[in-house]
Amino acid sequence: MYQDPVLYINGRFITAEGRKTQPITNPATGEVLGQLPHATTEDLDQCLAAAQAAFQQWKRTSPLERSATLRKAGDLLRERVREIARDISLDQGKPLPEAIAETDKSAEHADWHAEEGRRTYGRVIPSRQPDVRQWVQREPVGVCVAFSPWNFPIGQASRKVFAALGNGCTLVIKGPEDSPSGVIALARALHDAGLPAGCLNLVWGVPADISAYLIRSPIVRKVSFTGSTAVGKQVAALAASHMKRMTMELGGHAPVLVFDDADLDAAADMLARFKMRNAGQVCISPSRFFVQRKAYDRFAARFLEVIRSLKVGDGLETGVDMGPLVHERRIAAMEGFMEDVARRKGEVLAGGQRVGTRGTFFAPTVVAGLPADARLMNEEPFGPIASLTSFDSFEDGIRLANALPYGLSSYVFTESLQTATRASNALEAGMVNINHYGSGMAEMPFGGVKDSGIGSEGGSETYDGYLVTKFVTHR
Ligand code: NAD
Repeated sequence: MYQDPVLYINGRFITAEGRKTQPITNPATGEVLGQLPHATTEDLDQCLAAAQAAFQQWKRTSPLERSATLRKAGDLLRERVREIARDISLDQGKPLPEAIAETDKSAEHADWHAEEGRRTYGRVIPSRQPDVRQWVQREPVGVCVAFSPWNFPIGQASRKVFAALGNGCTLVIKGPEDSPSGVIALARALHDAGLPAGCLNLVWGVPADISAYLIRSPIVRKVSFTGSTAVGKQVAALAASHMKRMTMELGGHAPVLVFDDADLDAAADMLARFKMRNAGQVCISPSRFFVQRKAYDRFAARFLEVIRSLKVGDGLETGVDMGPLVHERRIAAMEGFMEDVARRKGEVLAGGQRVGTRGTFFAPTVVAGLPADARLMNEEPFGPIASLTSFDSFEDGIRLANALPYGLSSYVFTESLQTATRASNALEAGMVNINHYGSGMAEMPFGGVKDSGIGSEGGSETYDGYLVTKFVTHR
């Protein structure tokens, strides 16, 4: 039932054929779903050579032709959504409806990039001399390498793949070994849509070895990475030492400011479910909840009521709100945070421990009363743990929200237009959501400031990282 794990090199899907493999596991059951082939050094060289050769042709195809290929791939993703989403639930663990929504959104990214790719305009610069014409044109940067994560296996890869291909670049992507099916499905959709051989190549292996090998290659002109800030800094350092452009979509520890005048019930209902989406394994997941003093008790009571009502289980079962964590390492990470909560004498208001003996389930967890130097107040949990803290003044709330080196997403709940405007100006974040959450659609720029990254994916900014600027003067 689960699709074959393969490499995709120069237009061919390749099974292990004697290569080293690693097991792919269903985090809900521990069952092995398949064996993922690791790319050899020769495979990587073939990918680079294929991407380099394909770039010479692909960059010369018309924007309309590239747009048609992307659109067709988007249609195929929509046609295949059931099977793709089932496989993502199987190897990543998220509830099926979330996997369906993620796949649909990837198709929307195909459409968006197909359209925006037709609008790569240059400009004419008025000359100082009458017979001179001078202009600026934007050109595809060249061969790109991308490293995409396991939390949104098809969604995060789509942003990179469509942004590279839509403007004439070619690429080699290393997908997430823990949850590979989404990127394979993406490669199959593009292949079946008629993407020429070599434009997209997909590999698996030991992440640090593959990234070091690919980034060093003189063929590669651009690096795109989504993952933790710590790994992002290593990848960025490597890219910088070889003067490669980069897009870095890194960690966050999103603050939520709930002001006294907010619609507290609506805020609590919305935030409790949003927090536990994908078991909290989301870089924009709300994770530090700061609630103004008068609102605290009412907000906390309602928030906990919803959290405790969430059904945890196998993502393929009907009615499940939250699936397992992606792998055993995330359970260990959650247990580490909870040990620190106990040491700091924090209050555990809900959950706090592993659920069951089969699979990697962790209970939706809420803690309170942590000091500012507790691990949870500083490190991204990337899991189903929320911490509640109260604050007094507006300035107090903003100071807490901006206290960390992260700056990805942020959330504000207030009925005051003035508070909303002041907060949106004061928050050091790439994204500010007021009284709702709305980041991540294809038409919106997605990206962080400070340690949360460099560059945006999506929106009309999406191609900025994949284009170079050329000035031409002509007499
Ligand atoms: P991890 O640090 O081992 O891996 C995180 C991701 O980075 C994986 O996809 C991995 O394949 C990749 N990676 C690791 N080292 C790499 C290297 N040298 N070169 C290229 N890619 C490399 O941790 P994990 O336990 O799998 O994931 C947990 C952490 O990852 C969390 O703390 C979270 O911050 C981060 N993460 C972030 C996002 C995001 O959307 N920003 C997504 C997934 C994971």
